[in-house]
Amino acid sequence: MHTITLINGDGIGPEISASVVKIIKASGLDIDWDVQTAGADVIEAEGVPLPQRVLDSIKKNKVALKAPVTTPIGKGFRSVNVQLRKSLDLFANIRPCKNLPGVKTRFDNVDLVVVRENTEDLYAGIEEQIDNDTAHSIKVITRKASERICKFAFDYAVKNNRKEVCVVTKANIMKLSDGLFLESFRHVANDYPQIAKKEILVDNLCMQLVQDPSRFDVLVLPNLYGDIVSDLCAGLIGGLGVAQGANIGLDCAVFEPVHGSAPDIKGQNKANPTALLLSAVEMLKYIGENSYADKIEKALFKTLSQGYKTCDLGGNLSTVEFTDKIIANL
Ligand code: ATP
Repeated sequence: MHTITLINGDGIGPEISASVVKIIKASGLDIDWDVQTAGADVIEAEGVPLPQRVLDSIKKNKVALKAPVTTPIGKGFRSVNVQLRKSLDLFANIRPCKNLPGVKTRFDNVDLVVVRENTEDLYAGIEEQIDNDTAHSIKVITRKASERICKFAFDYAVKNNRKEVCVVTKANIMKLSDGLFLESFRHVANDYPQIAKKEILVDNLCMQLVQDPSRFDVLVLPNLYGDIVSDLCAGLIGGLGVAQGANIGLDCAVFEPVHGSAPDIKGQNKANPTALLLSAVEMLKYIGENSYADKIEKALFKTLSQGYKTCDLGGNLSTVEFTDKIIANL
């Protein structure tokens, strides 16, 4: 039996993780969930939003499923998400974006994967106040991290039968930092003659994505562009409620939806569990449980094709009703 760390999160987190746990159990796969709390709710008792026991659990189990966790604003705590990725060196953030059956969007031919560098860039957290009216943020780009993420993107392309990897930068303006990312891409690309290569500036990419997303296959980006572009891509396939994600490192992996804890709909039995469920499907593939992953994905697609949807997709089912429809289709 697999032991997997489960972070139920806060906001809509507990509702959608209950849904996903129920669906996986109903599929027949027995998982021993090592449930770990984190976020605003644990600060009073433990002093920090991400206690060491959570990191220890993930290091031990190697795999985690994580619902969204809110970091309290203005209390001096570093983002739980950023801290988790840094502490476990989860350097690659993978966000596959593909149309879902039954979910009508502007385009019906979206099938791309965003590979985002997860550990540096403007998210390194190095900022300084120069004077009252001036602040600096340092953009950190290293050859080591850039080559590592580009290699990951090419390996992903090979493994998943993708045809092309496109590097996204603003190297015409940030000649040193983005220039180094681009140079690293070109260096790594030499080892993959079978994969087509493309280079694009991030502003041009955004325009082309909203004109015709079918022009793109695998995108590899530094942290900040990756963050923004992956939300744009989530919009192309139906919004945050359906956008899945994974953070992968050399030793462990944390699977989580793109969306946050959605406090505006917390506790209302309205949240769409699809993004977390698709993240869990990827997790099952990662641990080699491909047949259960396929079974759950098929049941989800069938449910959506039958027109059953939560409010964010224009439907009228509650989280629990939608979950039960998926279970009925397993
Ligand atoms: P964060 O800064 O943590 O990303 P946020 O408030 O900016 O948080 P989200 O929490 O992702 O962003 O929510 C953005 C909007 O999308 C909200 O209106 C929320 O209700 C909606 N939303 C996000 N996730 C879901 C979901 N799973 N189901 C339905 N609606 C969702």
